[in-house]
Amino acid sequence: MVIAALLVIFIAILVIRTLTYPFLKTDTVQEGQTPETPLTEKSIKRFAEGIRIPTVSTEVYEDTYFKPFDDFKVYLPKAYPEIYKAMDTITVNKYGLVFHWKGKNSDLKPILFLSHYDVVPVIGYNPETETASDTIFRPGDAVIPPADTIQSKWDYSPFSGAVADGRIYGRGTLDMKCMLFSLFEAADTLIAQGFQPERDIWFAFGHDEEVGGRQGAIQIAEYFKQQDLTFDAVYDEGGIIAAPGSALESIQKPLGLVGIGEKGFLTLRIKVHGIGGHASMPPAKSSLVYAAEIIEKLNNNQMPSKIISPIASFLDNIGGEMNFASQVAIANQWALKPLLISTFSKSPSSNALIRTTTAISMAKGSDAANVLTSVSEVTVNFRILPGETVDDVKKHVDKLCEGYNVEIETISAREPSAISSLDTRGFEIIKKTMAELYPKAIVSSYITIGGTDAYKYQSVSDNIYRFMPLNLSLSEQRSIHNENEHITLDNFAKMIWYFKELMTKY
Ligand SMILES: [Zn+2]
Repeated sequence: MVIAALLVIFIAILVIRTLTYPFLKTDTVQEGQTPETPLTEKSIKRFAEGIRIPTVSTEVYEDTYFKPFDDFKVYLPKAYPEIYKAMDTITVNKYGLVFHWKGKNSDLKPILFLSHYDVVPVIGYNPETETASDTIFRPGDAVIPPADTIQSKWDYSPFSGAVADGRIYGRGTLDMKCMLFSLFEAADTLIAQGFQPERDIWFAFGHDEEVGGRQGAIQIAEYFKQQDLTFDAVYDEGGIIAAPGSALESIQKPLGLVGIGEKGFLTLRIKVHGIGGHASMPPAKSSLVYAAEIIEKLNNNQMPSKIISPIASFLDNIGGEMNFASQVAIANQWALKPLLISTFSKSPSSNALIRTTTAISMAKGSDAANVLTSVSEVTVNFRILPGETVDDVKKHVDKLCEGYNVEIETISAREPSAISSLDTRGFEIIKKTMAELYPKAIVSSYITIGGTDAYKYQSVSDNIYRFMPLNLSLSEQRSIHNENEHITLDNFAKMIWYFKELMTKY
């Protein structure tokens, strides 16, 4: 009887807490409130021509084919002469493009918009040898059939900037020349209207984000530091609007994911020693068997899970759209956190939000079938949750490797970023502008899983927001760094509108 009574009380508490929990309400919006976002032929053409310049960055900087980067530097002032008249331009490290638009009130702290104009390669496409005919842009008749089998997974040539079916095709349309060109379209329009911003606005466009940003973003951030500049807000890529159902199946609303922090990473190579020799007389355990045991230990002993603040507020924001069972779990974390964590752990994408992930990505034994090597190798890649450190992960690995004869080498490492506050003008303006542009969207803080240039600007701002208002379906999201990358004209138009609002509201 007592147990039954306690159970009833417990359930009652869960239910009451769930019903009174302050989940974000998004059902109050009326239809027909979204602003007009017209797009001119000129805007489309300027963007498409920027896509035609194949600015592919290369892992080894010295191996970069720089001609397209030079072309891009020549192209921008030709396409936007008014911007170059209205703003001061600074070039950092030859290709880092920085723009300074003076505001009316120099006492106010400036803001900074970022973008990068390098793109990832297209498999089978070499910008150095590709003939121009493959990328010819014919305005009004831009339908270019795929040139050969390599490009056959593209509806249009990857550097064609083809405009068809209400879309612009090409590498960089989403990642992320779209932001550079929508920023410039926004600024260009405002300049034409005689607008001058309240505070100084800066733009910084790096040229090697896809390979680490060492030559672009790091140097530009250093330049800002030397100038004693700090920013009230920094806006960069990192989050998008996930179309209904594309981020979480149960969320049938557009989900604006604003990255307010990003995960760090650590890649370790573990050299495992054992007895080598001929495969005809193997020892009980070879180095590769020890390596396999270490792999198993790493995989079975994941770093602890944790619901960090951006994810906690993410849950509060989306909870209202979830089923009652999920709501009970979110509203009653004091009792049901393990349940919530185990639900999150089930899918790779949500698991990545609640822990430092462990990915064993490479393993190597001997080079011959009949030879046992005395040293086998395991390579493991961690993505570190904000709040944990590179050192925490190294200690975790050391512990798991206890009792084995190993050498552990760090291949690459970066600490997780700081978490930007949600209680700032910088974030409020995103929310307000999104409420006008996508009244039905849920806008929420989030953690960016991959790395961005934004990270490098932590020395010049505490308020860094990684978000482009791109409403992307799952297949569009998958086209990033992949085949058939394209942007809808509607998305491009809305981005221009959005950045115009940010520039005028701030
Ligand atoms: Zn990018």
